[in-house]
Amino acid sequence: MQIKNYIRDIQDFPKEGILFKDITPLLNDPTARKECLSVLVASLNGQHIDKVIGAESRGFFFGMLLAQELNAGFVPARKPNKLPFTTISASYNLEYGTDALEIHADAIQKGDKVLIHDDVLATGGTAKALAELVEKLGGEIVQFNFLMELSFLNGRNKIEGHPIFAAITY
Ligand code: AMP
Repeated sequence: MQIKNYIRDIQDFPKEGILFKDITPLLNDPTARKECLSVLVASLNGQHIDKVIGAESRGFFFGMLLAQELNAGFVPARKPNKLPFTTISASYNLEYGTDALEIHADAIQKGDKVLIHDDVLATGGTAKALAELVEKLGGEIVQFNFLMELSFLNGRNKIEGHPIFAAITY
């Protein structure tokens, strides 16, 4: 089973010059999805995880599956002003300007072992913001975990210091 076969390349989406990695074929195939989940779980070598944090919105799919498989809590990191309770926030740079991610202030307890998940590691800005949120609440990052890494964008340089795993590397 080649997980790569379930990632569809879409040229010039959402704008010219971007090769978008579409994961919907993977989501749509239960066998491929299971295989991908087991590869992600195996990369942890049995390490204990208290919380999985996933970035809106494509980090929610496998983030939630991972949390279920690892018997851990799931923490959705959302775009500003979406979460109803008290939040903490971390901003990150986009090509033009900045954006931010928020989580609930009680979502992670001090000392929690946290797995950070997103679908794609590109420039690393999103992952770095997730790490900031975890660390603000005193969580301990066990691993950064992605379906795929676009290694030519060198995103891992932004999040060095913790283990990084990607099921597929381009
Ligand atoms: P970055 O913050 O640059 O590492 O970008 C990572 C975020 O942007 C992830 O949440 C991805 O869902 C999304 N993303 C970035 N580049 C791509 C791409 N080529 N295809 C699909 N999603 C992408």
